[in-house]
Order: sequence, then structure tokens, then C-alpha cells
Amino acid sequence: MGRLDGKVALITGGARGMGKSHARHFVAEGASVVIGDILDDKGQDLAAELGESRCHYVHLDVTSESDWAAATSAATDAFGTLSVLVNNAGILRNKKIADMTLAEFREVIDVNLVGEWLGVKSVIGPMTTAGGGSIINISSVEGFAGAAGLSAYSASKFGIRGITRSAAQELGKLGIRVNSVHPGGIMTTMTATAFADFAAEAGTRFLRSLPIPRFAKSAEVSPLVVYLASDESSYCTGSEFVVDGGMLAGPGY
Ligand code: NAP
Repeated sequence: MGRLDGKVALITGGARGMGKSHARHFVAEGASVVIGDILDDKGQDLAAELGESRCHYVHLDVTSESDWAAATSAATDAFGTLSVLVNNAGILRNKKIADMTLAEFREVIDVNLVGEWLGVKSVIGPMTTAGGGSIINISSVEGFAGAAGLSAYSASKFGIRGITRSAAQELGKLGIRVNSVHPGGIMTTMTATAFADFAAEAGTRFLRSLPIPRFAKSAEVSPLVVYLASDESSYCTGSEFVVDGGMLAGPGY
């Protein structure tokens, strides 16, 4: 018996990286999954790999309200209900405030923060019809601490904590739980691209300072997301779950 038997999940940014790993873990635990992303080829390939009876792909730009409406309908049309949302899509622009344009700042806020808010808003109807559900908002350790070059990213990830707590207050009585997940350094395309010029020596020093002195694989985050999607977390809402190798525990000397 799977931990997510009978659940129907929509996972944004699910075509690659952590979202892809979450989709694989969800299907393995018995869920049906709709992957939403803007990377259509990769998303369709993953859906084909996981099997049409258990996984569909939809084009979902999280900044588009009409894409959200189409994606939630796709889930209920294909699998009859919608019980889990993993608000995972995100972008990172590593630029200091002095060098960043207003348009670049707004783009990050639009995808990471407005996108997750739209996601919460869009699933209230179907989850109410389903009698409840679980919303998992992917934030970051940057939701607790700033970093040079990450003003927009960090602002968006702090903001997700506010949306999560407010939504948990509003939706609890409908049986909808809302929690946030805060990964540390996870080896994905996002990290490889954004920190490509991170000097090898500085990177090694940083890694050595962590209590668990390495980056994580996406598969080390997915079990936490499975837990929050499952009924095992039935009393958890409005909470923040950190998976960061001890990065936030304090400075390593
Ligand atoms: P990733 O490999 O870049 O995957 C993110 C996915 O989201 C990509 O497929 C991306 O497509 C997609 N996406 C971007 N804009 C979108 C939009 N408007 N609508 C729908 N999909 C969109 O990143 P990841 O590392 O797996 O990150 C997943 C989540 O975890 C993000 O929210 C990220 O902020 C968070 N996180 C990551 C780390 C880390 O160390 N990697 C740590 C903490 C938190 P494109 O390629 O077209 O952009």
C-alpha cells in the first residue's frame, strides 16, 4: 500500500529538478500526478515515462491565472479530484541590487511569489469539493536569511512564509492544510546555472562549513514533500519544514 494512495497531485515546475523528483516519488507512493511546467518537451517525456494512467503533463506558466484554471481542470478531468498542490516552480537571478533592473526584480517576485499565491487561490475550489487537501509551498533557506545577490529571490521566499501562514488560517476549516518547505543547497539546474561562477575554492570552503558538508540530491527532499502530502501529516498546518543539511543551524567555524 502506498502512502499517497488515492491522492491526486498537481506539481508545478515538475519537468525537471526537484519537481521531477517529487513527481517520481508521488507516483511510486500511489498518487496520480499532473505535472505543470513551461518546459513542454521535458514535461511530456516525464509523463510518458511515468505512464498515462498515473501522470499527465499540462503547460502551466504559474504567472497566468488562465493556465492555472486549465491545469486544475485537467487534474479533475483526468483523475476525478484534486487533493495536493506542490507549489514548486521557481526562478533565481543572482544579481546585486545595484546591478538588477526593476523588471528583473519583478520577474522573480512574479514567478516565485505571485505564482504560488495564484496556485493557492486556484485550488481552493477543487480541494473544497474534495473535502480537503494539502498545499505544499516550496520556499528556501533564503526564506529565513538573505544573501548578497539574492534580494529578489530572498524577498519572494520570505513572502511565501506569509502566504503559507495566512492561507493556513483561512483554509483550515475547509480541511485544507498549508505548509512550507525550505530546502538548502540542492544540486539542480537552478544551482548549477545561478552559481556557475561561484569560485571553486569559496564553494568548497562553504560546503565544508556545513554540518552535513555537501549539497543534497533532489531525492533527499522528496520524502518530506511526500510526508506533507500524505495523511501522516494530518495535524501539520501553517508550519515551516527545513531540509538544509544544517545550513541554518549557525555559522560553521
Ligand atoms: P529548476 O531545476 O530550475 O526547476 C524549476 C522548474 O520551474 C523548471 O522546470 C523551470 O523552467 C520551471 N519554471 C520556471 N518558471 C516557471 C513558470 N513561470 N511557470 C512554471 N514553471 C516555471 O529548480 P529546482 O532547483 O528544482 O527548484 C525547485 C524549487 O525549489 C524552486 O522553487 C526553488 O526556488 C526551490 N529551491 C531550490 C533550491 C536549490 O538549491 N536548488 C534550494 C531551495 C529552494 P525554466 O527552466 O524554463 O525556468
